[in-house]
Amino acid sequence: MIKQVILKQGREKSVIRRHPWIFTGAIQKVVGSPEQGETVELLSAGGQFLGRGAWSPQSQMAVRMWSFMEEQIDLDFFKRKIREAIVLRNPPVISDETTGVRLIHSESDGLPGVTVDRYGEYLICQFSTAGAGYWKKSIVDALHNNISCKGIFERSDLSVLKKEGMGESIGMLWGEDPPEVIEIVEDGRKFGVNIRAGHKTGFYLDQRENRSLVNSCSKDREVLDCFSYTGGFGVAALAGGARHVTLLDSSGPSLSQAHSNIQLNNIPEDRYTLLEADVFQTLRKFRAENRRFDLIILDPPKFVESRNQIDKGARAYKDINMIAMQILNPGGLLFTFSCSGHMEDLLFQKIVADAALDALREMKILRWLSQAPDHPVITSFPEGKYLKGLMAIAT
Ligand code: SAH
Repeated sequence: MIKQVILKQGREKSVIRRHPWIFTGAIQKVVGSPEQGETVELLSAGGQFLGRGAWSPQSQMAVRMWSFMEEQIDLDFFKRKIREAIVLRNPPVISDETTGVRLIHSESDGLPGVTVDRYGEYLICQFSTAGAGYWKKSIVDALHNNISCKGIFERSDLSVLKKEGMGESIGMLWGEDPPEVIEIVEDGRKFGVNIRAGHKTGFYLDQRENRSLVNSCSKDREVLDCFSYTGGFGVAALAGGARHVTLLDSSGPSLSQAHSNIQLNNIPEDRYTLLEADVFQTLRKFRAENRRFDLIILDPPKFVESRNQIDKGARAYKDINMIAMQILNPGGLLFTFSCSGHMEDLLFQKIVADAALDALREMKILRWLSQAPDHPVITSFPEGKYLKGLMAIAT
């Protein structure tokens, strides 16, 4: 018999609004002893059926909802969800010229804890919740049943796994072993993705459209790509005709992949510099040396991992934005981002405004930027929006 989770009085409200997370504090009683990841039925205190979700006994999020309807959670359920996700990644949402695509974006595709990225003919998955781990085999079967691919590889090596009481898991799930580096095309630009050693599943697909915007603004500009990783923005700027691009990152292996990526796109050596250094220090060094740029990208890692880090993170964002503004030429463009979900859009804009005041620069916002459409946000789960950015011009 299916095990049941009964909520406390009044705690069904967010579930009725189709929010997928149930915290331990909302639970009155568990009937039966569900195992980690097992499907449970969720009921209100008054006995109303609310849906089915995955039991996660070690997490603060004790249940994550699979469905708000009377439906079985089984292989067919996962096949259906995957088919729905594929439809919204078709042209015109994602162009035919793009072969690196996020296919499943966790809660936003109705599959909490399941992330699937497609790099050419291979799928790379992350299973980050007890429920996703429990159904891993069915999800993998549903994937290769619906998507023609050569192989499916797992990169479940996220820090959040600990909170779920799960171990890391990396390796082949199905089909052929992918090569060390998979070549993808993003809006016509080529990139090698190291799916085993790279960050996340190997590439930051969420920035695709923002890179294309940088590509269209780079002609004849002196560009600084801060936190360049494997050169997503740098390559876009070079392909867009930048006079010269400095790619700055503290990770040597990321920069050497960036170098290969630049070469893949046939860019002459005198148009770029790879700099392995700390962004905070290097921006100060450039300021002291009177170096100036016409376009600067700031795409740092998450400075805010949890709510109590907001102030500390805000100071770090302000610091790099202020110095970047000081080394921008008049008419120079700043593309500045935060991928911290806890940092709200308006707060980020205020931080950038404070940075401009301290930098003694007048900046005008030209565009508000976000994540690419293969990272959709289901309206009932606004937490799905995490990437925010501004395109601003120095007057
Ligand atoms: N812009 C990239 C993604 C950036 S990921 C893209 O489009 O693909 C963040 C990067 O910041 C990582 O490569 C990491 O090595 C680098 N990084 C983190 N802290 C840094 C620091 N203090 N100085 C320089 N690079 C840093």
